[in-house]
Amino acid sequence: MIFKNLIRRKRDGLELTPEEIEFFVRGLRDSSLPAEQVAAFAMAVFYRSLSFGETGALTVAMASSGVRLRWDELRDRGPIIDKHSTGGVGDKVSFLLAPIAAACGCFVPMISGRGLGHTGGTLDKLDAVPGYRSLPTVEEFRRVVSSAGCAIIGQTNDLAPADRRLYAIRDVTATVESIPLITASILSKKIAAGLDALVMDIKTGSGAFMETLEEARELARSIIGVAGTTGMKAHALITDMSQTLGSTVGNALEIAEAVEFLTGGAREPRLEEVTLSLVAEMLVMGKLADDHTQARARAEAAVRSGEAAQRFERMVAELGGPRDLLTRATRYLPLAPIIEPVFPRTEGYVASVDARAVGNLLVALGGGRCVAGEALDLAVGLSEVSGIGMRVGKGRPLAVVHARSPEQVSQAAEALRAATVLAERPVSPPPIVHEIAVDA
Ligand code: URA
Repeated sequence: MIFKNLIRRKRDGLELTPEEIEFFVRGLRDSSLPAEQVAAFAMAVFYRSLSFGETGALTVAMASSGVRLRWDELRDRGPIIDKHSTGGVGDKVSFLLAPIAAACGCFVPMISGRGLGHTGGTLDKLDAVPGYRSLPTVEEFRRVVSSAGCAIIGQTNDLAPADRRLYAIRDVTATVESIPLITASILSKKIAAGLDALVMDIKTGSGAFMETLEEARELARSIIGVAGTTGMKAHALITDMSQTLGSTVGNALEIAEAVEFLTGGAREPRLEEVTLSLVAEMLVMGKLADDHTQARARAEAAVRSGEAAQRFERMVAELGGPRDLLTRATRYLPLAPIIEPVFPRTEGYVASVDARAVGNLLVALGGGRCVAGEALDLAVGLSEVSGIGMRVGKGRPLAVVHARSPEQVSQAAEALRAATVLAERPVSPPPIVHEIAVDA
C-alpha cells in the first residue's frame, strides 16, 4: 500500500477499508510512517471525519498495537470499570471516585494523563505526593488494583503505543479536536486496559474542550456507539465545566482538597455531585446496585464510613507515597511562599466565569504547561475559589492566590478579575449534571 494514496482518498472524503486503517496503525506503531504523513492524514480526518466503521477499525487496531491487560483473576470479585474525563479546570474527581468506587466493590485500573493547555492533568497532581510512582511495572499495577481496589497511573509505553504516537503528532498539529480521533484515542487505551465498562465524564462549558452541549452530545454518541461494537460497555455523563470544579485549582492544592473531602472535611457541593453521580453510574453498570438511588446511597456510605479514604491511603502507600498522607497532608504537600486573597473591585454575585482563563492563569503561575514535558510548580494555584451564584466583595474574595512572587500575585489577581463577571442581583448556578447518555 502507498500511504500517500490513503491520505489523498481521505482528503477527498472517501471511506477507507479496515485493511487500510490497519496499515496506518502498523505504520504508526513501527514508525515506518513519517510524522509529516501522519500529520497530513490527521488533518484530512479533521476536515473529512471518519465514518462509524472507520472509527471502530481505528479504535480496535490502536488497542491491539501493544499489550492488552487481562483481569481474569479479579472478575469474580467485582467488575473492572473506570471513568475517563475529557478534562477541565480543577477536576480532581479521579482521586475521589476511584477509592469510592473501589470501596463499593469495583476494581478501578485508572490510566490517566498529564495536563496540557488550560486543563489540568491527574498525573501532574499526583506528582505533588512525594514518592508516588505513577509509572509502576504492570505487575505492581495489578497488585495495587487487587489489594486497594484502585490504582491511578500513567500510560505506559506498551499500552496502545500507536495512540501515543498519533496523539503526540495531533497535539502539535491542531488536530486534537476531532470527534472520531478523540473517540479512537480514548477507547483504544481503555480497551487495552482490559475494562468491562467505562463511564465517560464529558465536560461542557467555558473550561471544556467541548464547549457546547451539542458537541458534548456528539462525542457521547460516538464513544458509546463505537465502544458497543468492541464489547466494552460505555455510558456518559455530560457535566458542567463553566467554572472551576471544587474550590481549588493547582496540583498540590487539588490533592489537599481531595484529602479533605475523603476525611470528612469540606465537600464542595458541585464536586460532590459530579463525583457521586459518576460513581453511581459505575455501580449500576457494574451491577453492584439496582438503580441510581441505591448506588448513590452506597457511594455516600463509603465516604462517610471512611472506607473510601482508607482505599485512597492504601493506593498511595502501595505506590510509594506516604503511609499517613491523610492525617498529615500539610507536612507532605508543597506550599507556595505567598498566599493572598483576591477581592473583586465591586461587591456582587458571581454571574459567570471564563474557566479557560482560570486554567490559563494556573499555566501563567507555572502550575500548568503549554509544551509537553515542561516542569511544573506543583505548589501554586488558587484556593477558596468562589462559584457562580456566590456573593463576593470586601468580606469574601474571588479566590486565594498561591504564588512564588508578588508580581505573580498581581498578574493572577488581574486575570481572575477579568475572568469573572459580577451581577448586582442573585444568580442561579448552572446545572451540574446536564445529561446521562446510555445509548448512542
Ligand atoms: N484524551 C485522549 O486520551 N485522547 C484525545 O484524543 C483527547 C483527549
